[in-house]
Amino acid sequence: MKILTVIGARPQFIKAATVSRVIATMDNVTEVIVHTGQHFDANMSDVFFEQMGIPKPDYNLEIASLSHGAMTGRQLEAIEKVLLIEKPDWVIVYGDTNSTLAGALAASKLHIKVAHVEAGLRSFNMRMPEEQNRIVTDRISTMLFCPTQTALENLNNEGYANLNIKTVVSGDVMYDAALFYKQFATKPKQLCNLDLSDGFILSTIHRAENTDDAARLSELVDALNELHKSKPVIMPLHPRTKNKLSELGLLLNIHLIDPVGYLEMVYLLEHCTFVASDSGGVQKEAYFFSKQCLILRDETEWVELVQCGSNKIVGANKKTILDEASKLSNNQLFNEDFYGDGNSALRIVNNLINFSS
Ligand code: UDP
Repeated sequence: MKILTVIGARPQFIKAATVSRVIATMDNVTEVIVHTGQHFDANMSDVFFEQMGIPKPDYNLEIASLSHGAMTGRQLEAIEKVLLIEKPDWVIVYGDTNSTLAGALAASKLHIKVAHVEAGLRSFNMRMPEEQNRIVTDRISTMLFCPTQTALENLNNEGYANLNIKTVVSGDVMYDAALFYKQFATKPKQLCNLDLSDGFILSTIHRAENTDDAARLSELVDALNELHKSKPVIMPLHPRTKNKLSELGLLLNIHLIDPVGYLEMVYLLEHCTFVASDSGGVQKEAYFFSKQCLILRDETEWVELVQCGSNKIVGANKKTILDEASKLSNNQLFNEDFYGDGNSALRIVNNLINFSS
């Protein structure tokens, strides 16, 4: 069986790493990796291939830094060419980026089976490019791998039980990744002179709804600067956020570092006091590492973490952020297995092998 994997952005490298590791152990399955080039910097791309042992991409399409429509369109065209050459049995796409949508659409138009990993997530905010990408991808896929029970319920609410699309609650490949790679966690070199023993707040910001809205970004900057006065805030700064801060002349007076590799990120997650982030992945990883998380958004796809009390939605309001930060306690329990058993990648590959339409 030949699987063609389409990836292009940081969270997809992390998700695909676990599935690639499983495929590599199987004699009867081969993988062709297509990197669309959406994220291309060494610290947003190469480092994940090196640290996580992801095979070098067979194709690098080098399509980046374009508007959403142009990027998706060019990816669609380029992926179609690769599919016509490779003729895979399955195309696997991950998450909710333009690369996800382009990969699924190119395959589906050629009647190649599509597996969507991280299917069924919904923010119910149709303005988000991620929500648009994931809804369309789910609908044109052959098999949908839901990370959680909630994701399956979302699909059922949309009538997927009546469609000819197979749904599987596989668990979350990011949980697989956290469990496996934590043995290799490393302190970021950029912080080697900083004593972290009294704890710190780990923060990331990169969602368009925050970076592309000057009022929200400025409020977040104020809130983080204020928090930093009582507890150091460390932020690996996403390139998009860096550009926006400098464009708007906003000054973050916290420990800003360049984006780090996954092993450094795991170290920061393990050692921080709590997390403040608008990232989909990081708010969940906080839970994997038994940390509470302030979600710097107005909604989340990972509702189970809000319901169980470990995560709080605080938006981009300075007062709410500071109030909720002061209320965080260490009494939270992190023992519910919302995200499976750490074998999601194996379950996914086995389902593809055993699939019959
Ligand atoms: N991450 C990383 N280095 C960083 C920041 C994030 O390795 O400097 C990892 C993080 O641990 C998570 C993933 O990147 O696994 C999340 O990616 P991102 O926040 O860019 O996207 P999202 O999850 O919101 O789609």
